[in-house]
Amino acid sequence: MPALIDITIDGHVHTRLCNHASGEMEEYVQQGIQRGLTTMCFLEHLEAGIHYQPRSWLEGEFAYYFEEGRRLQQRYRGIIDIRLGVETGYNPEAVSLLQEKLARYSWDRIGLSCHFHRHGDRHLNLLSRRRESLEQLAAIGVDGVVTAYLDALIAAIGMIDCDVVCHLDAVLRHYPGIGFNEDHRRQIETLLDGIQAKGAALEINTSGIDYRGSPFPAPWIIKGALQRGIPLHAGSDAHKPEEVGRYFDRLPQYLQEISD
Ligand SMILES: [Zn+2]
Ligand SMILES: [Zn+2]
Repeated sequence: MPALIDITIDGHVHTRLCNHASGEMEEYVQQGIQRGLTTMCFLEHLEAGIHYQPRSWLEGEFAYYFEEGRRLQQRYRGIIDIRLGVETGYNPEAVSLLQEKLARYSWDRIGLSCHFHRHGDRHLNLLSRRRESLEQLAAIGVDGVVTAYLDALIAAIGMIDCDVVCHLDAVLRHYPGIGFNEDHRRQIETLLDGIQAKGAALEINTSGIDYRGSPFPAPWIIKGALQRGIPLHAGSDAHKPEEVGRYFDRLPQYLQEISD
């Protein structure tokens, strides 16, 4: 039986360029080498039509990202394979702009996420730990926000040419007692069907271990992916160099237990 996941590949790494991570691209690469990775994929944040301050994605920096990424690919050739990808934040109200931005570069990997919820003429960050933000989302209604988030991903999997769905259940990760109701669970089944139909992968995102003690997404979602034959890809979601490949050594046994 083939391994459930390849832990020598970290498919989700950020850099200081997104405005909310720290460290140069080369520092992430060096950490990847120390961890014994064979491959590391930068997956920087791309958004379109989002009204949110301070900006937490790349705007003009992708030219530098590719230039520096290609330099690093040369420099570390034979030691670690460096890939240059993008974490596409889906915005149902800016699909053509998003597609236009994606078409500007040739990405090694396209990840799909949804980080924002529109509220009036502004967006709220669904992954923020800020109290004010959580209070606003609570006032809108947490269940409805989660429904909209999952609907966005279901639409996105049909619209965006992506390789992997990132941190599927990280929505409102800082909201105390956050959980899915029966309708949300049905939406997630639909989303998994969409991922399967697309031939995309599901990310096992080990940042969840720091946030809640277990990776994103929850075991029942991983199980649903395995039942559909959806491949699992490991991602650390590193926002600091030392987070590259975090907890990957735990994944084989963890996934084995889920699949048994
Ligand atoms: Zn980020
Ligand atoms: Zn993300």
